[in-house]
Amino acid sequence: MSETKYSLSSGIWDSSDLYKNAVLQLQEAANVMGLDPNVSNRLMVPKRALVVSVPIRLDDGSIRVFEGYRVQHNMTLGPGKGGIRFHPEVNLSEVAGLAMLMTFKCSLVGLPLGGAKGGIRVDPSQLSRQEAQALTRRYTSEINMIIGPDKDIPAPDVGTDAQHMAWMMDTFSQERGFAIPGVVTGKPIEIGGSLGRAESTGRGVVYTIQHAAKHLHSLGKPGPKMDSSTTVAIHGFGKVGAIAAQEIYQLNTKVVAVSDVGGGLYNKNGLNIPDVLKYMAKNRTLVGYPEADAITNDQLLSTHVDILIPAAIDGVITAKNVGSINAKIIAEGANGPITNEAMKELESRGAFIIPDVLCNAGGVIVSYFEWVQGLQNFFWSEAEVNEKLAEVMANAFKKVVEIQATYKCGMKTAALISGVDRLNRAMLLRGLFP
Ligand code: GLU
Repeated sequence: MSETKYSLSSGIWDSSDLYKNAVLQLQEAANVMGLDPNVSNRLMVPKRALVVSVPIRLDDGSIRVFEGYRVQHNMTLGPGKGGIRFHPEVNLSEVAGLAMLMTFKCSLVGLPLGGAKGGIRVDPSQLSRQEAQALTRRYTSEINMIIGPDKDIPAPDVGTDAQHMAWMMDTFSQERGFAIPGVVTGKPIEIGGSLGRAESTGRGVVYTIQHAAKHLHSLGKPGPKMDSSTTVAIHGFGKVGAIAAQEIYQLNTKVVAVSDVGGGLYNKNGLNIPDVLKYMAKNRTLVGYPEADAITNDQLLSTHVDILIPAAIDGVITAKNVGSINAKIIAEGANGPITNEAMKELESRGAFIIPDVLCNAGGVIVSYFEWVQGLQNFFWSEAEVNEKLAEVMANAFKKVVEIQATYKCGMKTAALISGVDRLNRAMLLRGLFP
């Protein structure tokens, strides 16, 4: 069949920047490592996707239909794995791009899991608890046929948490008649969650920053000391950013700026993070915290700091604002916060980027631990979880910097090469069916 008559995709996947960025990154990694196009062409598109309508009755008695998705990008290495995102702008293409990143993330850190992602196009802040529960349950029921402990295992992502996972686990279990905790991870501890899962992504982010600092020193480059002389700014003060802030504060390193959707805080002497967390828990916002100056999210991103952690959402550092970014290390706590163009510009200026698939992999690593503990009905102490997490992340970091040195490429490309290389070998061994 001629190439001109038959192109790779009809275009259903490519409408979001996140997907386009993920494909560009894959192409770059494929070029640098000399990947067989027979493999890269398969990785450019997801294996399967399910789009569902999710009707629920709102508190006012009316019925509203939401759009939901579950995309399984690649399941060569094992069951699909990846979070469920509740966000007003999420769409099929974005979920497909995020599923692709999950494939590379799971492969890179050596998990026996494939990549998947789900989402509902909804603003969760507009839902009552009852509505959120109904939405989560009906969505679970609609995607029921493609998820399961040995098929595809969802977890929390932007806009969802342990409570949503409890509702998902309950719905899936009710439909089969017995408890099936292994269908999701990131569950509450009481129903089979793992100690340390809630903190794992933020904790992992900080591990990678410590490795990056040591790595820069080992190359004789000026790296942060990770003591009170080091300054950090964190964009996003949720499941990832707030935990990273806490961990950094405990290292006695200065978190000088934090922000959430409502705006940010700056204190050049360092914020008292436990106090900020208390304020946040009480007021549900950072706005008005007395011991700091109010700043905007844009100001936070351009703060003069040693380390910047974009830990909120994708596409925050772009060609438009990259000129104002001053940090020396940028740790991608969120998925896809730096666009490709911006990444190139930052790396050419000598910034050290810790790519998302490595930086935020702590979450899925401890999700894997949770799944394993659940399958064995044998649960570990938090110290054991953290020790194993640290070991997996240290190995992954080492592998990525070795690849980076071999190919003399950017860190994102090196991370993808690491993930794609393992996957490529597995795909070749399994062969093509039929
Ligand atoms: N949503 C998280 C991520 O993007 C965690 C996924 C998981 O634990 O399965 O990596």
